[in-house]
Amino acid sequence: MTARVCENCGIPDDELVLVRRVYVVPPSWDTPGSQTVIAEPELWCISCMSQYPCEIVDD
Ligand SMILES: [Zn+2]
Repeated sequence: MTARVCENCGIPDDELVLVRRVYVVPPSWDTPGSQTVIAEPELWCISCMSQYPCEIVDD
């Protein structure tokens, strides 16, 4: 039996969701903020989804 683990925190979880990680760069005095969506989807647990910026992969 193979338990699936969250690809972000490594905790085994039955309710993993396919998401794309989003890197958020906050704006500062000389640069505007930006967001970069990582193309490669990852399986994340609900806890990581609520704590880190990500987009749910919808297919
Ligand atoms: Zn996680």
